[in-house]
Amino acid sequence: MVGKTIGNFTVLESIVGEKYGKKHSWRCRCNLCGSEDNIISTTNLYKQYSCGCAISSKGSRKIEEILRNNNIDFLQEKRFASCAFGDSG
Ligand SMILES: [Zn+2]
Repeated sequence: MVGKTIGNFTVLESIVGEKYGKKHSWRCRCNLCGSEDNIISTTNLYKQYSCGCAISSKGSRKIEEILRNNNIDFLQEKRFASCAFGDSG
């Protein structure tokens, strides 16, 4: 398992311990951002898309990349103040 790449993670180290809920976990490098301090259980390793640095939907990710390249803060599901509907009648 160590040295394998699963999804966007490369497994660096096997971690077993009560500290991590007694589940067998792995220290992984996120290949999207390069952070190596991610402790992820075996199950999550196959489910998780990233360490949290990226958004799973491909469309959003593309946009995020473009914005990030331009140093623009990316807000997912940006909410707009709704218009006033109170003046009917
Ligand atoms: Zn990451």
